[in-house]
Amino acid sequence: MKTPFVTKAKAEEIIKDFPTPFHLYDEKGIRENARRMNQAFSWNKGFKEYFAVKATPNPTILKILKEEGCGTDCSSLTELMMSEKLGFSGDEIMFSSNDTPAEEFILAKKLGATINLDDFTHIEFLEKTAGIPDKICCRFNPGGTFSISNTIMDNPGDAKYGMTKDQLIEAYSILRDKGVKRFGMHAFLASNTVTNDYYPTLAKLLFEVAVEIKEKTGVKLDFINLSGGVGVPYAPDKEPNDILAIGEGVRKVYEEVLVPAGMGDVAIYTELGRFMLAPYGHLITTAIHEKHTHKEYIGVDACAVNLMRPAMYGAYHHITVLGKENEPCDHKYDVTGSLCENNDKFAIDRMLPEIEKGDILAIHDTGAHGFAMGYNYNGKLKSAEILLREDGSYKLIRRAETPEDYFATINDFWDVEL
Ligand SMILES: *Cc1c(COP(=O)(O)O)cnc(C)c1O
Repeated sequence: MKTPFVTKAKAEEIIKDFPTPFHLYDEKGIRENARRMNQAFSWNKGFKEYFAVKATPNPTILKILKEEGCGTDCSSLTELMMSEKLGFSGDEIMFSSNDTPAEEFILAKKLGATINLDDFTHIEFLEKTAGIPDKICCRFNPGGTFSISNTIMDNPGDAKYGMTKDQLIEAYSILRDKGVKRFGMHAFLASNTVTNDYYPTLAKLLFEVAVEIKEKTGVKLDFINLSGGVGVPYAPDKEPNDILAIGEGVRKVYEEVLVPAGMGDVAIYTELGRFMLAPYGHLITTAIHEKHTHKEYIGVDACAVNLMRPAMYGAYHHITVLGKENEPCDHKYDVTGSLCENNDKFAIDRMLPEIEKGDILAIHDTGAHGFAMGYNYNGKLKSAEILLREDGSYKLIRRAETPEDYFATINDFWDVEL
């Protein structure tokens, strides 16, 4: 069972001020989850979660997470700029980019962010553009497949990210010779894992490589970044991850592998996006049409530009018809947006209560990689974002785009003669 964090009455109250569609975020849920996250790793002295800004690039959300002790994980110029503007600096920023333009390395270095090098060749590129900083992280890709007890979780061998182990070992030696004083290692080997074993399995692999690096190069890592990939159950019948069990699992392998190697002071970092935010966001949308042809369709006022995951990955997002939580799901619908693309469907053949025009739908788990993946195809505009506070009040934290915003980049060109 998935229950929305907003009631029909509250949604109607908000809609009086801000029309649908909009993304709604649950401040209470975000804070409680961030606290559990920090508690799960409180055994590790240097622990820090760097929230992956790309998942939910909203200043108010980042401020809430900053208050809960999180840093930011950036991968672009504007994400770095947003972090700077919000007062994140130095060790509070990770810069885990790839195929990185020079200007981004330059800003990252200026902010004192921890640059996470995606490739061996970037050592030279970084040296020529921004200069080598005194702390650095290297991204590892072991290749092959990544499995947990015989189940293949993902295919690092096909992923564009990271360096091979040999490159990694050589990179640390070269960087040390160039004057780097503090070192880290990073790997992101599987996405949206819904198992308490992902982080512990990844951690064991990275800890063993860290010991090998120390033996082969004498470089002792200061931190190991387990990156993102701890997921959420989008489907209602799946068990959510237990972050306390995950933290405990990582502690076990830490004591098994790092402590005996004299590396009991290595800090653990994470850079989760989805786990930190996805369940604490809903896309709120109104049913505006019903269509009866070869199938039964409900047309809503949101579309794939507000939430791309169903169209892009065929991803399941649970839907609750607000106020009809207890009615039988005895109608089969495709729930569609208005793009001229047949994949613009939030649900296909979904059993739901009977929907009438005007019903308000909450699309679940849109707090990460939801609004953020938005685009303007078909000239559609991005929606507002609203924060639901712990006391039930609500606040606009990003206004909806207007046609003026959409036309702003071409306003100088209407009168150009060809
Ligand atoms: C996307 C990304 C993350 C966050 O991933 P989630 O699946 O949202 O946890 C973390 N680190 C890097 C480098 C990423 O690209």
